[in-house]
Amino acid sequence: MTKVAIVTGGSRGIGAAISIALKTVGYSVAANYAGNDEAAAKFKAETGIPVYKWSVADYDACAAGIKQVEADLGPVSVLVNNAGITRDAMFHKITREQWKEVIDTNLSGVFNMTHPLWGGMRDRKFGRVITISSINGQKGQAGQVNYSAAKAGDIGFSKALAQEGARAGITVNVICPGYIATEMVKAIDEKVLNERIIPQIPVGRLGEPEEIARCVVFLASEDAGFITGSTITANGGQYFA
Ligand code: NDP
Repeated sequence: MTKVAIVTGGSRGIGAAISIALKTVGYSVAANYAGNDEAAAKFKAETGIPVYKWSVADYDACAAGIKQVEADLGPVSVLVNNAGITRDAMFHKITREQWKEVIDTNLSGVFNMTHPLWGGMRDRKFGRVITISSINGQKGQAGQVNYSAAKAGDIGFSKALAQEGARAGITVNVICPGYIATEMVKAIDEKVLNERIIPQIPVGRLGEPEEIARCVVFLASEDAGFITGSTITANGGQYFA
């Protein structure tokens, strides 16, 4: 039977690479997104991967979206929590709204997606929950107190839940990317990128979205059943967690 995977934020950036990689190895993939209808429609037309719009920050919307995906494609056995946002500000200037938006999406979003799927994974005695955290959740980053807190929270969430899922055949893991060449990172001023960012990366280049996608494909596979509660650090040697 074809395994079904949901990738949140799966129509752009790293998420799009993950959706495509999972489809390529045979999964039936549902790519969730939040608001960028144009990018989602283009992605669907180019890849044939169905797209589903809801916000991971809204529990009821996640439960309804998952129900729709399962009605369309079948029971979900792989969840990739990839959706994420930044609302950067130094702490003395950060607003409560900037704090809340990032926590709601990057941390509560992981709960909101995993919780409605957990019972089904337990019943079927198989599941893969893979969350895209960040190097900045491991080392902290000035100007990103909200983002670093949420991404560190994703790691704690996964380590705890891994212990609960182990006997039920469900693995729960995290990938922490460093700088990846998505539109967001490529939009950084070339001088800043070449003189300040790339010199911090020992391998001397940005990562590619496909390099993160390949980690996801491995963690999703039956072969990775002994790996749970783990963090794959994929940052070109920039930081050793
Ligand atoms: P992008 O900004 O390119 O894409 C983000 C995706 O998440 C979009 O598809 C967006 O949907 C979706 N999204 C945002 N908010 C929500 C929401 N509330 N509900 C559902 N979907 C949502 O991000 P990247 O590809 O750069 O990043 C992907 C993940 O990797 C994030 O979690 C990020 O924190 C993490 N990461 C990225 C790094 C990088 O260098 N790029 C480094 C380390 C970690 P829509 O298209 O509708 O806006």
